[in-house]
Amino acid sequence: MNETYDVVVVGAGTAGSYAAYLMARQGLKVALVERKRAEEVFKVTGDAIGEHHIKRLEASGLSINNKVFMIRYSGAELYSPDLSVRYFVAGRGYGLDIGEWAQWLISEANNSGVDVLDRHTVTVPILEGGFVKGVKANRGDGTQVELRAKVTVDASGATGVVRTKLPPQYRISEPLLPEDASYAYREVIEVDYAIANPQNIRIYLSNVISPGGYWWFFPKSDKTVNIGLGIWGKLVKETGLNPRSNYDKYLAKSEYARGRRVLHAGGGIVPTRRPLPSLVGPGIVAVGDAAVAVNPVHGGGIGPALLSSELASKAIIEALERGDVSERGLWRYNTDYLRAYGIKQAQLDVFRLMLQTLSDDQLNRGLRARILTEEEVLEISEKGDLNLSGLRKLTIALRLLKVPDVARKLSLALRYMNEVKGIYLNYPQDPGNLDNWLVSLVAKYNEYRLKLKLPPQSI
Ligand SMILES: Cc1cc2nc3c(=O)[nH]c(=O)nc-3n(C[C@H](O)[C@H](O)[C@H](O)COP(=O)(O)OP(=O)(O)OC[C@H]3O[C@@H](n4cnc5c(N)ncnc54)[C@H](O)[C@@H]3O)c2cc1C
Repeated sequence: MNETYDVVVVGAGTAGSYAAYLMARQGLKVALVERKRAEEVFKVTGDAIGEHHIKRLEASGLSINNKVFMIRYSGAELYSPDLSVRYFVAGRGYGLDIGEWAQWLISEANNSGVDVLDRHTVTVPILEGGFVKGVKANRGDGTQVELRAKVTVDASGATGVVRTKLPPQYRISEPLLPEDASYAYREVIEVDYAIANPQNIRIYLSNVISPGGYWWFFPKSDKTVNIGLGIWGKLVKETGLNPRSNYDKYLAKSEYARGRRVLHAGGGIVPTRRPLPSLVGPGIVAVGDAAVAVNPVHGGGIGPALLSSELASKAIIEALERGDVSERGLWRYNTDYLRAYGIKQAQLDVFRLMLQTLSDDQLNRGLRARILTEEEVLEISEKGDLNLSGLRKLTIALRLLKVPDVARKLSLALRYMNEVKGIYLNYPQDPGNLDNWLVSLVAKYNEYRLKLKLPPQSI
């Protein structure tokens, strides 16, 4: 049976279920296509989300089922590799029951009229006359189906199963390179001691345990914790490092996991890069991890998944009303996303590359010098930018004198964060100028990469 929809959404994770819900609520005929059984949709994550994302979700009119929350957080502790420095960054958030979260979002989509097609594995986009016209899928019973739609939403997670099968001239198809991703493994475990301050999540920097990434300890109660680590994909590719092996070697038998009883184990890939050059193509958009909508420094992607879906849905609804689902017709999603989050994401990507090139010794000395205050760390991670007074600049300059090598890298990163922002502020208002713009962006990144002794990237 071949069906025709206004919108086919591929993937029933956070991004896909929310986008499907939003569009069906506006009266569109929407299919939500998922390879797993609906009741088995579950994402391996750290389960932490900032309160501001939840508030935004509530503002959209959804009433959130309280079963999705396991614990309330009041801040994050950040540790230097030698554990001698601890920063506390205040900020409210929640530890999610990620299974309940997924089931709740799918049921909201279902209740708003979405056709939930589970056990359907999407294989390829249907490309006709230069437009994506839906997808082909294999069903659980071994049959194949064509799901036709005016607009296709790729919400299939980091693999981007639809968008990456488009030819390279569709800028939405840009692949996710290992060097722009983190490879992560985590367990949810019960421990045999009382976890101190379970209302704080903890982040540990260590190039031994989690090279080019961090390891985390996110309590879910005073007895259970989500504990895991991420390794920079570049190192996984070049050295064969493996997050699971490092977990077994350094965390599984550590005092943090004392009495460990594993409740759930699993891994995944986290995109940690600047936004795709374009989140849209003719008849297609990408959201969530498929759109690499993730904070490149800490890897938080649940909030950006919601945000990207909200903005994409608005653009799709408007394009369908105008009867123009071309790249130009959907373009507004690009500019809305960049304004709301993407520019900050690009700046944080610059910061992330700098962090990944610091040794443990440099991280220890840099954090010990307390170059940035806890509030400034928060500001950088929130806004991707720093707004400093003259006096504060002077204080920082004096502290930087103590760690000249770290200072050089930090000021380089801050300079390029500003320059990259300048380029994004000139993001084209329509697709015609995208290729020229992209040349200038990649040239700027490559200039920066060269200074960090990283090889250039091509377009
Ligand atoms: C180990 C780890 C820890 C993390 N920790 C955090 C954290 O603490 N906080 C945070 O905010 N973010 C965290 N993230 C990132 C966050 O989990 C993701 O950014 C977010 O869940 C992305 O949601 P999504 O809906 O875009 O993708 P996904 O949740 O990956 O959903 C994609 C869906 O598409 C389906 N699918 C895939 N291929 C097909 C196909 N061919 N046909 C049909 N369906 C398909 C999948 O089954 C899946 O249900 C973490 C990620 C990892 C891997």
